[in-house]
Amino acid sequence: MRLVILGPPGAGKGTQANEIVERYNIPHISTGDILRENIKKGTDLGLEAKKYMDQGNLVPDTLVLDLIQERISRADTKDGFLLDGFPRNVSQATSLDAELDKLGIKLDKVINIIVDPKKLIARATSRRVCPTCGETYNIVAKPPKVEGKCDKDGSDLIIRSDDTEETVSRRIEVYTEQTSPLIDYYKAQGTLFDVDGSQSIEQVTEDIFKGLNK
Ligand code: ADP
Ligand code: ADP
Repeated sequence: MRLVILGPPGAGKGTQANEIVERYNIPHISTGDILRENIKKGTDLGLEAKKYMDQGNLVPDTLVLDLIQERISRADTKDGFLLDGFPRNVSQATSLDAELDKLGIKLDKVINIIVDPKKLIARATSRRVCPTCGETYNIVAKPPKVEGKCDKDGSDLIIRSDDTEETVSRRIEVYTEQTSPLIDYYKAQGTLFDVDGSQSIEQVTEDIFKGLNK
């Protein structure tokens, strides 16, 4: 299974990605997570990327293309992978196709999560994440067992620095302008299917598995 999960910020990509990678036993490749990891470690890439991420803008293609190229050629991707947050514009998608071509492989399916934009800001601003293990919670829809603490390792949950109302609004604009054209791009390739992401987390997961099994 070589998969891409698409959807606006706060649509539930990361949440659903965790279920998919567990079911199919493939690596979850999230460019957002890799970039945040670099920021945490203070690498040159992290320092450069942070400037763009804090504004809600995309980081330059060259930065993400290099890291994706390296990541998808690692041995653990031989049975597949799930890309989350990449590609983010048509130029990244054509670069990905070229890279996969070189490796003699193709994407099997693209999952497109659709959520009413009005719901997205509320979802993203009520998101909480574990700085240690990366688990995602939501104070409304998916609260941790103990308020403010990660279920898995007890760490204090944090709010992502780009989950302010202002930055989320900008990220939604960027999604509409630069990422949403990928829906037609992958429809033309015949790989894309839509999922109604406004349902409960469990129902969305069920619909994704139905779509993947078709
Ligand atoms: P993305 O990776 O697309 O930005 P996340 O998976 O991090 O989105 O989800 C954004 C926030 O919304 C998180 O707090 C998550 O717990 C919550 N969430 C995810 N799916 C749903 C859903 N179906 N209904 C309500 N809240 C959801
Ligand atoms: P979300 O889907 O909730 O917006 P991500 O974690 O996927 O969050 O992305 C967070 C930020 O990381 C983006 O706003 C952008 O600045 C940067 N980013 C992640 N992936 C890419 C990418 N493929 N190309 C450019 N920027 C990216």
